[in-house]
Amino acid sequence: MTHCNVAIIGAGPYGLSIAAHLRARGIEHRIFGRPMDTWLTRMPKGMRLKSEGFASSLYDANLEFGLGAYCEREGLPYADLGLPVPLETFTSYGLEFQKKFVPQLEDKLVASLSRSSTGFQLQLVDGEVCCARTVIIAVGLTHYDYMPPLFSDVPEEFVSHSSAHHTLDHFHGRSVAVIGAGSSALDLAALLHQAGADVQLVARSSAIRFHDPPHKRSLWERMRAPTTGLAQGWNLVFCTKAPRVFHRMSERFRLDFVRRTLGPAPGWFIKQEVVGKVPFHLGVNVTAAKVGDSRVRLELTNRAGERRPLVADHVIAATGYRVDLRRLSFLTSELRSAIDDVQQTPILSSRFESSVPGLYFVGTSAANSFGPLLRFAFGAGFTARHLTKCLVRLDSRRSVAIGRHDETRPEKAEQLQDVRLQGRLRRQGMSAVRRKAVT
Ligand SMILES: Cc1cc2nc3c(=O)[nH]c(=O)nc-3n(C[C@H](O)[C@H](O)[C@H](O)COP(=O)(O)OP(=O)(O)OC[C@H]3O[C@@H](n4cnc5c(N)ncnc54)[C@H](O)[C@@H]3O)c2cc1C
Repeated sequence: MTHCNVAIIGAGPYGLSIAAHLRARGIEHRIFGRPMDTWLTRMPKGMRLKSEGFASSLYDANLEFGLGAYCEREGLPYADLGLPVPLETFTSYGLEFQKKFVPQLEDKLVASLSRSSTGFQLQLVDGEVCCARTVIIAVGLTHYDYMPPLFSDVPEEFVSHSSAHHTLDHFHGRSVAVIGAGSSALDLAALLHQAGADVQLVARSSAIRFHDPPHKRSLWERMRAPTTGLAQGWNLVFCTKAPRVFHRMSERFRLDFVRRTLGPAPGWFIKQEVVGKVPFHLGVNVTAAKVGDSRVRLELTNRAGERRPLVADHVIAATGYRVDLRRLSFLTSELRSAIDDVQQTPILSSRFESSVPGLYFVGTSAANSFGPLLRFAFGAGFTARHLTKCLVRLDSRRSVAIGRHDETRPEKAEQLQDVRLQGRLRRQGMSAVRRKAVT
């Protein structure tokens, strides 16, 4: 069994930015995950980012290696605003960031996470067991794909979630129905069309709300709706500048704000690639789906209750993601049930800490606490800075308490924590059986 102070699970923009900050501050840690995996395998090849260039970076402690600096070094086209960033540029930048600032990354997944007497026990896919005092869960949207229950009886060869597709060439010559009105749906529709598929788009909304193309904005426009790293508007200035103030708002306000802000809206640049090229079925619900003669047969129903069929070789549900702690399959059920939640999302302190001491959540899982900023790479800067400060404070308090430090004296620190935990359990009058399970 190995030991570490902090374990980070996940190596996307959040995990990597946090690890870069911890390394710069000398906080001992390990980070697990495949670097930039979501962007390399779960988004379609050829996609362009919806976030602007200046809002599409990872964050090192000195802010010296943003996307702009990388593109300049590599001679790649870049602009802070108005020039969509190709997915391939962003992933190669992210991998370069990892090599430069997070060389300690361990490219392996965490198979299970449970509580132990000294904090947490991580079982890695290669069989290693590692104990950590602090765990940061930075798994982004992985685990949270939302597939409408309507498709639960349709075999996987006929229906898939948008996150299952990186390459699309195998759809050449096949008919595909894409369901959704957000950027995933429209990006996929455009790319499938380019790959030679016969695509149709199905959406509940009566119109697709493409972003406005960039134009020189007047002073009045800029005053009315300032540009932020998420989009334009004073409400987004609040989200991006004051996530800690957002955290202090009432739960009801936060949940409502996150639900209403930045709904599905494709990038402006995708409009010309789909309008007039891909048929849209708008204002309809998919009310039935079944397979017959090796094709998927959908029933579409409009608001007036009129029904019509749509037949395709394959259906891609670009139906988004829902944060739901029950979907984090690597959490043991004991640990999962100890995390206080609201609507299946973790309730977090102002330090990102859940109700289980030492267990932190960042990224999309933390959006109901810190706002929509946390749903985007742009939020990784705030998160890495703020969380690192909190962990530095915690580390120095621990060092004082146990006479420095678990790297050099792990057994002593553990013994001390063991004694404390035993005492706490006894005070709480837990049964011997439960005590055995926890220790
Ligand atoms: C189609 C699409 C387009 C998007 N476009 C944009 C955009 O233009 N701009 C933007 O800012 N955001 C965009 N997003 C949102 C984007 O997903 C987040 O901004 C970003 O990924 C957040 O980074 P992250 O580090 O939290 O998560 P991710 O990048 O998803 O990284 C999570 C990491 O966790 C790892 N992991 C998961 N489980 C385990 C485990 N058990 N053990 C170890 N590691 C694990 C994964 O392998 C992965 O490396 C888009 C999302 C989608 C789906």
